[in-house]
Amino acid sequence: MDSEEYKKYVKAGKILQQAKKEAKKLARPGKKMLELAESIEAFIEENSGKPAFPVNLSANNCAAHFTPSENDERTVKENDVLKIDVGVHVDGFIADSAVTIDFSGEHGKMVEAAEQALENALSVVKVGATVGKIGEEIERTIKKAGFNPVQNLTGHGLEEYIAHAAPPIPNISRHDDRKLEDGKAYAIEPFATNGRGFVRESVQAEIFGLDKAIPVRNTNARKILEFVQKEYRELPFAERWVSEKLKLSEFARKVALRELLQKKAIHAYPMLNEEEGRIVTQAETTIFLKDGKMEKLV
Ligand code: MN
Ligand code: MN
Repeated sequence: MDSEEYKKYVKAGKILQQAKKEAKKLARPGKKMLELAESIEAFIEENSGKPAFPVNLSANNCAAHFTPSENDERTVKENDVLKIDVGVHVDGFIADSAVTIDFSGEHGKMVEAAEQALENALSVVKVGATVGKIGEEIERTIKKAGFNPVQNLTGHGLEEYIAHAAPPIPNISRHDDRKLEDGKAYAIEPFATNGRGFVRESVQAEIFGLDKAIPVRNTNARKILEFVQKEYRELPFAERWVSEKLKLSEFARKVALRELLQKKAIHAYPMLNEEEGRIVTQAETTIFLKDGKMEKLV
């Protein structure tokens, strides 16, 4: 492992640690989701990092992939169980971490279940540990606490400019003998729920990612594609980021994005929801395996 790369991972982790502290300070009922996301993203940049993906502020039955849109008036609610999921990269080397805040005061046990599952997962992490073994530990912990793990959400590897690299790290016991390797970074992220343990894609998406910079005729679509390729590469980006930087009208932007989606130049990350009325909690950290030892980056 190039030690320069390792240093960048460590730096990303440190910035993320601070950003999470800031996020916990700022997140309050009544706070606008948009302001919260933008403050955290600005904090990352002020501290010489870049967001590795838009700050995710998924509440209650939404498990992942919600980030506010550019004119979003939504606020954090008194009874929200809010997942704040933040990614930081330094020259493409990514740290990814999430925390759940229970404003309702009614779901402390579920928050704890995800946190305990993460802790127990980390206790079996080592070079050569199988991802199946990690999933087993997570499932066992969450079920013991009386909840269900979300079976179709996983942790993942991290590679240069790739936020979700192989292998997926399951949140349930699974025969998967892929092994954790020395010199690599991994995000482990248990989700606990009082629902079925299965999320579905919503029709709404605010987050997108580049697939392939193919030739497109629409000028605005081409502009967006060139901008995204240069600025984010394959990392996920928010529609509001494009809007802020490229100053296209909402109509022009929507038309352009639709064309890019249709041509498969980009793909959407739709919001992922448990059943209405259910709650999902999440805990996540990024680790690095260095010289046979596990280091927590966040
Ligand atoms: Mn995350
Ligand atoms: Mn992750």
